[in-house]
Amino acid sequence: METNLDPNDYQRKFSECDERFEAIFRLTSAASKIIDSDLTILRVNDALADLIGYSADELTGTKILDYACEEDKQHWHELQDAMWQQGKPNFHLDACIYKKDGSLAWVHVTTIAFKENNVPYAYTILDDFTARKQLQESEEKLNTALQYSKMAVWELDLLDRSITRSEGFDRLFGLNDPKTVFNEATLLAWFLPEDREQLEGLFQSITTGEDFDFQGRIYTNDGIIKWINFQGRAEKTPAGKEKILGTLYDITREKQAEREKDDFISIASHELKTPLTSLKGSLQVLERMKDKPTPMFPTMVQQAVKSMDKVTTLVDELLNAGRVAEGQLHLKKTRFNLFRAIEECCLHVTAAGTYQLLTEGDKGLEVEGDSERIQRVVVNYVNNAVKYAPRSKEITIRVEQQATSVKVSVIDKGPGIAAEKIPHLFDRFYRVDQSGGQYSGLGLGLYISAEIIKKHGGEVGVNSQPGQGSTFWFTLPTITAERNIASSP
Ligand code: ADP
Repeated sequence: METNLDPNDYQRKFSECDERFEAIFRLTSAASKIIDSDLTILRVNDALADLIGYSADELTGTKILDYACEEDKQHWHELQDAMWQQGKPNFHLDACIYKKDGSLAWVHVTTIAFKENNVPYAYTILDDFTARKQLQESEEKLNTALQYSKMAVWELDLLDRSITRSEGFDRLFGLNDPKTVFNEATLLAWFLPEDREQLEGLFQSITTGEDFDFQGRIYTNDGIIKWINFQGRAEKTPAGKEKILGTLYDITREKQAEREKDDFISIASHELKTPLTSLKGSLQVLERMKDKPTPMFPTMVQQAVKSMDKVTTLVDELLNAGRVAEGQLHLKKTRFNLFRAIEECCLHVTAAGTYQLLTEGDKGLEVEGDSERIQRVVVNYVNNAVKYAPRSKEITIRVEQQATSVKVSVIDKGPGIAAEKIPHLFDRFYRVDQSGGQYSGLGLGLYISAEIIKKHGGEVGVNSQPGQGSTFWFTLPTITAERNIASSP
């Protein structure tokens, strides 16, 4: 830190230019003071008084340590030791000092030793870097916030078209080397052609003061498509440079959710429209024959009721899904015979005559829970077996006692399900055949079933392989002796 300036040499020079020194001391804009070896302030110039907000009179005679931050006091003692014990000619330190208004100032301190009539003093210059320190701190805070928010910052120089970017930018694009050069052309190349054209147009047409807002798709290095949201503003720097400065972040999940919602609305409308059209048809026929009923009358009434039931089921499913999503699913728990409840709820399947339903297992098993809702889960599994495994005429329902739970499995011999689809089956709005024009359902049945079972403290799952049929199962906790039958919220 110290230079090789000899204090005696400096002293000689100081005496020679005493008057000039005095003038500089008074007039310089560098905050300066003269201290003695006790760290007592002997003289201050106006610049120093301005810096810390006290008048020169208030400061004279006080000690530096009166203004020093606690954690810096040790450094001031080191300065004292270096200059007056070890005889070093000068010393540097960074310190924070309290201003009169209680705020802090950060200063680089340079101290030069000299002697006047053989008494040691030091001339001290304080260089204020508070603004830089604050900027550095807020930059650090911003960087931390950016890291957590998954947001990145970018800047496009509108003259040389180069792009500067933050760390998050590389993470988003899957770049491994921060030295990778990025400019407008390389950025555009990442985008899908239809989005690229639009982004290029925006870059070309933007003018100073204009906002920039763009959403587009890129292919990442792993070959995945990501939706990116770019926002910014075209600005002119004080040096006259024109640039777009902005943020960007990944909106793939939001876009996916948006698309699922859109899909869901069209599916729900379609699903409702089918039974409503049929209901309307039946009612029109019934209206025509109301005064003179034909033998078709009872069939038409039956058809109307069936269509109405379908509408009611769909609306129920929608309402239930809404309740589940809002955590509003309330259970009415009782103790009941599981085997009997299962046989009761699936009569409609056997009554139709096409499918054979075999319920096997422990007939005496009792569980605690909301019997109606548990029946709904079984019905959903069985209806799915009918819907998605139509050629499997035999559906087995197995009820088993396990170590700490009761397991119910619905087994079909249908087409089975591909392994990669299995983890998503119980997700909201998930349907295996997303693309087919043939709507199969709302993709809500298994989601609602899973939530009902979870609320009972049980688990759901599926074992399936393509060509091997599917087994959809759920468990419920076994009744323990001390458990009370109560209504759960
Ligand atoms: P949906 O209302 O569309 O029937 P579900 O949540 O009940 O929704 O089912 C989700 C998806 O699981 C269905 O789209 C279907 O493809 C698949 N699935 C459910 N049960 C079976 C099964 N037994 N066999 C084959 N696929 C099934």
